Amino acid sequence: MSEKTIFKKIIDREVPADIVFEDEICLAFKDVNPQAPVHILIIPKKEIASTDKLSAEDAELLCHIYTVVLPYLVSEFALSGGYRLVTNCGNNGGQTVYHLHFHLLGGRFMGWPPG
Ligand code: 5GP
Repeated sequence: MSEKTIFKKIIDREVPADIVFEDEICLAFKDVNPQAPVHILIIPKKEIASTDKLSAEDAELLCHIYTVVLPYLVSEFALSGGYRLVTNCGNNGGQTVYHLHFHLLGGRFMGWPPG
């Protein structure tokens, strides 16, 4: 059995985090190294390493993130003026934690292109 990722340890309450949303499918918590005034990580509780490991059976989970978790956080953190939702995939994508996660960034203007 491979070692737990830091995010799995947060799900299992082995590592503390500032949790801002939780239900049976997902967890959302503040990033420990925020890149914007609002920087929240949204993760599925299901262990999926990255976007390239998603399958059709994960459609409901992704829909849940976009239609339930995201609107809740946008309202809760006053992001109706806009935000960025980012998923890094793999080494070239800048992924460092191999448990699927979405960065919700907001509270300032987001430049483009990203670094
Ligand atoms: P990635 O680089 O994989 O797209 O994003 C991983 C994110 O997880 C980074 O933004 C990093 O700051 C955050 N992170 C890493 N370890 C921890 C932790 O122990 N707690 C929290 N809250 N965030 C973490």
